[in-house]
Amino acid sequence: MKNPIIVLIREDLRIHDHPALYAACQVGHVIPLYILDEETTLGEAKKWWLHRNIETYQHTLQSINGRLWLDKGKVEEVLSQWVKNTNAKAVYWNRIYEPDIYQRDRTMAQSLSSQGIQVKTFEGTLLLPPWKIKKDDGTPYKVYSAYYRSLRKEEIPKPLPALKRMSVPQLQDDGMTLNELDLLPTIPWYHIMESIWDPGEEAAFKRMNSFFTKRLHDYSEGRDFPGKGLHSTLSPYLALGVISVRGIYHALIDMESKPIEPFMKQLIWREFSYSVLLHYPESPIRPLNEKFAEFHWHSDDEGWEKWTKGKTGYPIVDAGMRELWATGLMHNRVRMIVASFLTKHLLIPWQKGAEWFLDTLIDADLANNSMGWQWVAGSGFDAAPYFRIFNPTLQSEKFDKEGTYIRMWVPELSHLPNRYIHKPSDAPGDVLKSAGITLGVDYPYPVVDHKAARKRALEHYEEIK
Ligand SMILES: Cc1cc2nc3c(=O)[nH]c(=O)nc-3n(C[C@H](O)[C@H](O)[C@H](O)COP(=O)(O)OP(=O)(O)OC[C@H]3O[C@@H](n4cnc5c(N)ncnc54)[C@H](O)[C@@H]3O)c2cc1C
Repeated sequence: MKNPIIVLIREDLRIHDHPALYAACQVGHVIPLYILDEETTLGEAKKWWLHRNIETYQHTLQSINGRLWLDKGKVEEVLSQWVKNTNAKAVYWNRIYEPDIYQRDRTMAQSLSSQGIQVKTFEGTLLLPPWKIKKDDGTPYKVYSAYYRSLRKEEIPKPLPALKRMSVPQLQDDGMTLNELDLLPTIPWYHIMESIWDPGEEAAFKRMNSFFTKRLHDYSEGRDFPGKGLHSTLSPYLALGVISVRGIYHALIDMESKPIEPFMKQLIWREFSYSVLLHYPESPIRPLNEKFAEFHWHSDDEGWEKWTKGKTGYPIVDAGMRELWATGLMHNRVRMIVASFLTKHLLIPWQKGAEWFLDTLIDADLANNSMGWQWVAGSGFDAAPYFRIFNPTLQSEKFDKEGTYIRMWVPELSHLPNRYIHKPSDAPGDVLKSAGITLGVDYPYPVVDHKAARKRALEHYEEIK
């Protein structure tokens, strides 16, 4: 057997535009190897999604004469064992920019190189490596619009073609089975997610094409309205690299007749998030605006419990939290509303909310999530000012006027007329009665009063201003 190349498969479960796999296949025998990293915590929802996507990826690789080997443990130790056992001459991977993994990979690359093993790393996560877009003075951008303008001037490499055939060696070690990775929970709570999400590249392309042909045109006007379903729902596929962002970018550029900029702007928020994460690796836990380190947060156990369970008494907040629990996704506008509610109405630290999201989202992404939470909490770069406190009822009236989204996720309110669906506690007794609701029994009273909570939040903000 010729010395093979090991390609570490991580958040790039695809065969199209896979720079590491593509490069290795040009050279000879390839061992695609997925090592479940026991040192990195994966959220429960994402674990389920990962299981389903690895399963599909195994079939995809088999269909081009390949296969996927699986293992788990401390990545550098497990990899070193595989290199030894297979006499691999090289290891390739697409880079991951989560700070701990990025640093670990750099150390691992040095160690392998010092043993005479060739290491090559590639850009497979972003449009451009996150150090590429910088200000003229060489420092990273902190303002999104300037970052966006700068990136839009760059040439983005075209996606690589999908692999048609690969050559894998015969190995004595079969590695682990997918079930041995132990990604699925013992209690199968994921049946709704199972019915919504199809794993794999084919499903991702289908979703992208359907979005481009049917919804892109109305995206700009409609993306903020959760009941309209005009967003792409591509984030779960991007989070595991089942679809390539360069592929999306170029497919978008080719849509000459459609308004592409609004969607492009969102895609580039993702790039900006990664730039911030790379340059400020503490940003998942530390406020980027240092003033917020002094902020006096509360530990409101009751509020926390109600927020996580979707029982705050604010229907739009509850709808979002229940959508998240059931589907593993939440609409972007609603993410902003629930995050604002947690950090400003309940004064619970954004880091706690961010952690909950990482555990429950199937699109959990450290860069986007940290950026989103810091933005809402007011402590991020180019963030919403802290004193701009969303009124959840007004947000709901504006973005879910007919209550379509609320009725979907908070069915106990479905018989309320539009006028009261945003704030059932304002509804007269006879209206509640004919809608079949007893407040405090069928649906909770608001956990906090908006006006009082707003005043309290602003007082807290004054302390650090
Ligand atoms: C508090 C909070 C937490 C968030 N956590 C995550 C997370 O863990 N993972 C995640 O992928 N996104 C996160 N986002 C960003 C955004 O909500 C999701 O990317 C979006 O809702 C995904 O749905 P979609 O694919 O239909 O988006 P679309 O509107 O169709 O956008 C297309 C793509 O652009 C990117 N994008 C869109 N909006 C943003 C944004 N505000 N920031 C960065 N990238 C964006 C995503 O990759 C998305 O898939 C968070 C936002 C907030 C406010």
